[in-house]
Amino acid sequence: MERTHYERWIEDCINHDSRYGKFTLDNIRNYQYKKIRETMDYAKKNSPFYREKLKGINSYDIDSLNDFAMKVPFTTPEELANKPLDFLCVPQHMISRIVTLKTSGTLGDSKRVFFTENDLERTIDFFHNGMKYLVSKDNRVLILMPGDYYGSIGDLLKKGLERLGCSALILGPVEDSLKVLDMLNLRDIDCIVGIPVQIYQLARFKSSNEKYRGIKLKSVLMSGDYVAKSIVKVVEKAFNCKVFTHYGMTEMGFGGGVECKCISGYHLREGDIYFEIINPISGEVLPWGNEGEIVFTTLTREGMPLIRYRTGDKGKFKTSSCKCSILPRMDYVKGRILEEVRIEDVNIDIGTLDEAMFTIDNLLDYKARFKKGNIIQIWVKSMDPKAPVNQYEIEEALKESLIGNLIREEKLIIEYCGEMEDIEISTGMFKRKLLFYLF
Ligand SMILES: [Zn+2]
Repeated sequence: MERTHYERWIEDCINHDSRYGKFTLDNIRNYQYKKIRETMDYAKKNSPFYREKLKGINSYDIDSLNDFAMKVPFTTPEELANKPLDFLCVPQHMISRIVTLKTSGTLGDSKRVFFTENDLERTIDFFHNGMKYLVSKDNRVLILMPGDYYGSIGDLLKKGLERLGCSALILGPVEDSLKVLDMLNLRDIDCIVGIPVQIYQLARFKSSNEKYRGIKLKSVLMSGDYVAKSIVKVVEKAFNCKVFTHYGMTEMGFGGGVECKCISGYHLREGDIYFEIINPISGEVLPWGNEGEIVFTTLTREGMPLIRYRTGDKGKFKTSSCKCSILPRMDYVKGRILEEVRIEDVNIDIGTLDEAMFTIDNLLDYKARFKKGNIIQIWVKSMDPKAPVNQYEIEEALKESLIGNLIREEKLIIEYCGEMEDIEISTGMFKRKLLFYLF
């Protein structure tokens, strides 16, 4: 099969650094190993945090990627929240963009992530190359992600798209689905990029309204949150086009990996980031294909490199190789390690619920909270409030999912709580989560 854009891009990334010759997985790993050692030296020299953290660990003692996993400790989001400035490797005047991330209840402080101009450039380059699967020259893209500020995700994506010869319009997160659909009707848009549940809502409104029948897209990209396959299905059907998903987080420099046209998991940003999957309890690296916590190390970050940073996201590498490339892929990321409950042998997380809930035709969004006594409370946002989604529909949908047996055997109770009152518009900075109420 013809080599993909993405493969050529990763090859350029690693060969730009020094000649690694043939494009093989070994050569990619050699490149990453070398960049990891450079990153360790750089971070130790320039950041107070890593000077302390890596005390007594010398990069020249690390003789393989395995050795790296054995000897180098993790960096946690708590550490980043506690002392963000201690991570800085450059003087503050070299910082072009600071992102403040509010953290969940357990962490008091906000995480702050700093990027230099070069860091932003690497992300633009990733967006430029990752988007080649979705659009081509002269296409028009509507960006439904935050983009008001210099160096924001929308701004960087727009710049990447312009390098492809596309024009991009940044609208920001969707506040009114119908307005966006009207816009798609009027303007000649080829591709939309947005937050999964928001694009899902556009799809539901489009399918239920004749007026929007004529909207034709070439591709859709969903980013900024976990993506359930049920969401992909609804969007694919409504817009009758390929639906791609992207995985990333701010700490990665927004971008982490994107799907190729085979639509079967993320090809990772191997030139800039090294990924590991670990056992969240023991910290050991898991054998290829096992599910665990995603950990990453930045390879080219200037402002604020992160070494073995624990994302809290649950993921696994795919064991089969993609038709398009030798590049490894990561499977869809479905939720967070700490935000799941285990009943009998079944893990329940937001991803499991999403898969079932978003098959309900009249459902726009929902909120779920786990309560003592194995109860899941569910609030819904119905598309037609006059005929709201009811308990029966929810139970029927959930009975088809991995937790179906638990419900049938009454080991798990679904408590219907009616319509959601607070409807937060997701900015893509917060991911969907299963809430807990344990008292
Ligand atoms: Zn592929």
